Amino acid sequence: MTDCLFCKIIAGEISSHKIYEDDEVLAFLDINPVHLGHTLVVPKKHSEDILSIDSDSWRAVCERTRILAPIVHGATGADGINVIMNNKKSAGQLIDHAHTHIVPRFKDDGFKGLPQHKESDEALAAMREKITALI
Ligand code: 5GP
Ligand code: ZN
Repeated sequence: MTDCLFCKIIAGEISSHKIYEDDEVLAFLDINPVHLGHTLVVPKKHSEDILSIDSDSWRAVCERTRILAPIVHGATGADGINVIMNNKKSAGQLIDHAHTHIVPRFKDDGFKGLPQHKESDEALAAMREKITALI
């Protein structure tokens, strides 16, 4: 994808603070981190998001995320780690090249997760039917 920022970083046309690279994946530091050490794990093969990524790319991203998360945890001295993936603009995706975020978290850093609410048993059962019908 000629117009994709992450494809340009993968191609070396835009510089990054690379922390890991192999045939399938590149990982580098986010320039606007939640905390320093916030790392992006990016498949080298362009796909937009979780709705369209191929199985091999996704497996590679997941496995490298698994390997790099404890390393980022150790290097930053974080108390915890969020692994996050944003998909589509309405879910906060800014760069339309699939990737995970490894986000170091610290006790009392005060960041809240997504708001949740109590749902009725009827609504949960109806949604379960909808989802399982498509599996
Ligand atoms: P998204 O919102 O798409 O899940 O995350 C994209 C991330 O890429 C953001 O956290 C943003 O700070 C980061 N980002 C945007 N432009 C650049 C860049 O040029 N270099 C690096 N290293 N990160 C970037
Ligand atoms: Zn791309």
